[in-house]
Amino acid sequence: MATIKATCPYCGVGCGILIESDRARITDVKGDPEHPANFGRLCNKGSTLHLTAKPDGRALFPEVRQIRAALRQRESWDATLTLLARRFADCIKTHGPDSVGFYISGQLLTEDYYVFNKLAKGLIGTNNVDTNSRLCMSSAVSGYKVTLGADAPPACYEDIDRADLIFIAGSNTAFAHPILFRRIEAAKAKRPDVKIVVVDPRRTDTAAFADLHLPILPGTDVALFNGILHLMLWEGLIDQAYIAAHTEGFDALKQTVRDYHPKLVAETCAIAEADLATAAKWFGESPAVLSLYCQGLNQSSRGTDKNAALINLHLATGKIGKPGSGPFSLTGQPNAMGGREVGGMANLLSAHRDMANAEHRAEVAALWGVADVPSRPGKTAIEMFDAVASGEIKMLWIACTNPAQSMPDQAKIRKALDKAELVVVQEAYVDTETVACADVLLPAATWGEKQGTVTNSERRITRVKAAITPPGEARADWRIVVDFARELEKILRPGNETLFPYESCEEIFNEHRESTRGRDLDITGLSYPILESRGPQQWPFPSGASEGRARLYGDGIFPTQTGKAKFLNATYKAVAEPINAQYPLRLNTGRMRDQWHGMSRTGKVARLFEHVQSPALSMARGDMVKRGLQEGSLVRVRSRRGDVVLPVGVSEELRAGQVFLPMHWGSRFMAGLGINALTLPTFDPYSKQPELKHAAVRVEKIELPWRFVAMAIGEPEDVARALARLEKLRVHLSAFEYASVGLFGYGQENVILRGAASVPLSANFVAQIDHILGLDNAGDVLHYEDKRRDIGRKIRIKDGKLAAVRLSGDAAAKDWLQDWLVQGTVVSHLTRVLLAPSAKPPQDFAPRGRVICNCLNIAESEIMTQLKTMPMQSTNKLALIQNALNCGTECGSCLPELRRMIQTETREAA
Ligand code: SF4
Repeated sequence: MATIKATCPYCGVGCGILIESDRARITDVKGDPEHPANFGRLCNKGSTLHLTAKPDGRALFPEVRQIRAALRQRESWDATLTLLARRFADCIKTHGPDSVGFYISGQLLTEDYYVFNKLAKGLIGTNNVDTNSRLCMSSAVSGYKVTLGADAPPACYEDIDRADLIFIAGSNTAFAHPILFRRIEAAKAKRPDVKIVVVDPRRTDTAAFADLHLPILPGTDVALFNGILHLMLWEGLIDQAYIAAHTEGFDALKQTVRDYHPKLVAETCAIAEADLATAAKWFGESPAVLSLYCQGLNQSSRGTDKNAALINLHLATGKIGKPGSGPFSLTGQPNAMGGREVGGMANLLSAHRDMANAEHRAEVAALWGVADVPSRPGKTAIEMFDAVASGEIKMLWIACTNPAQSMPDQAKIRKALDKAELVVVQEAYVDTETVACADVLLPAATWGEKQGTVTNSERRITRVKAAITPPGEARADWRIVVDFARELEKILRPGNETLFPYESCEEIFNEHRESTRGRDLDITGLSYPILESRGPQQWPFPSGASEGRARLYGDGIFPTQTGKAKFLNATYKAVAEPINAQYPLRLNTGRMRDQWHGMSRTGKVARLFEHVQSPALSMARGDMVKRGLQEGSLVRVRSRRGDVVLPVGVSEELRAGQVFLPMHWGSRFMAGLGINALTLPTFDPYSKQPELKHAAVRVEKIELPWRFVAMAIGEPEDVARALARLEKLRVHLSAFEYASVGLFGYGQENVILRGAASVPLSANFVAQIDHILGLDNAGDVLHYEDKRRDIGRKIRIKDGKLAAVRLSGDAAAKDWLQDWLVQGTVVSHLTRVLLAPSAKPPQDFAPRGRVICNCLNIAESEIMTQLKTMPMQSTNKLALIQNALNCGTECGSCLPELRRMIQTETREAA
């Protein structure tokens, strides 16, 4: 057995992980107690990583499709890379370097990023290299650059423990950055007078924890921040001395915010004027203010303005660069920061250099040993796919990301991928939406199999090691790029020394390190041995330093030409797609607690579906009543770009006129093009980040009377069988008007298909599903058919328990049969009841409900039963529930929800 150190590959908190393996298989994970991001803690997602580390569902060898309509065939690495080099070289020679593009990922390690960037900008001569961080963090980048002069978060995690006010804007930290939220909870428990303000259109679990929740209308953040500044000016809560000594541009902003009267701001944001006043007072009066913000500010057509307007508040009060103070953007992805450091985006250059700056381009060219790097800005994510659709970019290389799920306006993305002359996908998983569009599939190593470095939200670099070798012929991402680059060099610059001489990722790190010399992110004092012996370090860490810098700008000097920070004179502008009579609802999208991005990894673990099993639209109760909708009614959600059909549910988090969809579900898990069929590609003019957080939609009730559910139990840890079944079921999603597939169960990999159609599907179709789930007419299968009413029911019983169920025509019994299937209820004496068309659950049956505590498999119903036994006046209900059930005592990810259940139950009981 061996234990190695790595980080979690999910969010930007960058938790340290100890991976245990027998050197062939990853057997367990634990939080690294020495890592300063998490001190041994992991959330639900991180603590189940070992369950995702199976060879099932992996891309194992290169595959090439010779003709568009044909299937891809297995090919050798040598032949594949030779073919790719020839095709790319031909394209570049014929159409120029900008005829190819690279769309890469914040999941890559810094070394992977570095060589991709060098391949595009150094060898090929195009800046067409962009990343999915464009959908995530580019507004934070431009917000920092336009105000503070460099893309550098000035605060650190320790500031959470030292802040007097934690101002969270556009972030459901409880779900998206759970381990940081544990730290916020701990800070509040230790110092109850610490104030927490949450700015979010939804009353999320994060908002429910706050002392003050400002449920602003989507997109009105700049109005709010300017309104707060207006009030702080009026109340004399700004720091005139700091403004005079360390900033410029305040006078113009002061003129602007004069017009942001509290009454007008409160009306614009649809919040109470008194709450606005409280927020301003707390911000101005609290000695240390830490702002934490994420996609609510970034994924916006005004993302740069929103970021800058919040940073303005810190500059105006001098609350930056001091313990407990600063504007701190939380990165969504594990290594978005590393990508930014190497300049791995279409408008950036290595080590925070500017593409528009000739001197900077010359420095990078000299470092790489090339004549120059191109000055033309490359295509950013949305522009890149537009260019593919128009034929301007002919060959697209996609690495470690899934744009056929995650990009907005999916119909357009699918057309672009169809139009490309060549789509190369470098990917660990064989079953993503984008792999289905690939002409060439390059199998990549993934978490636990790769080594290099990552940088988390607080500028902390961690050395990541590989626990096992990748399965099949999969290779490390940097290795694939280097192998391809060397082939391409043979054609584009024959006879020259290679630009890619690396034989290890350490050599790449060392070159990247050299590129930072003298820059704001100087890491010339770091090396792999230092990171290994002394643990993760923050940048800057220049040569000769004994440690990195926890906070930036404590001296009031900023990396601008004048050394002063700049106020951005941001004014409020409405969302890009306003609601109207035709599209009267505001659609917001966001994360679930237990899923990650497009579910290529988390979607392989059944227990991660137990919190939320399938996609559903959340809506305010009044809006549902208005439309005659009930819990579970099927609706069609339509935007100007597409539509999806799915069930609707009441949400107490939402105000009237707003609806919410989780971002995770794509066409692998539901019929249609997934959630992003609806979302908007309009982007911020500076950051080019699209407005994924707001689209105008309408919701129509849809009658699909023929309901269908089919499910089968799996064996413990038999992921291979479950994934094989899922793949086969997916093929049939399009037969339904509504359908979703997924896993369920705890310690079992059970599979489920839910569907609905306006007319019954054929007996032949139903038989195919039966076959996939082992419901053929074998000896242990019982069935009932009413052909006249197109109702059918099949059950397979094994050892007296349900092993598989199919309900067609009428699926009313799905919930209790699913519960019995999971719980292994003995049903052999109930077969007649189970098959009866009007079968009802036994009187004492109570649905188990969602699993709230995923670590210990404790469901909503069990928690509610405990809650109802407690005296209403109890002040320590959380402790009592934890004593009784232990829920929330492991990773703590369910604590916010437990608190909320207690609040709701206490309120309702009262
Ligand atoms: Fe991973 Fe959770 Fe830590 Fe994020 S908070 S890095 S998802 S363990």
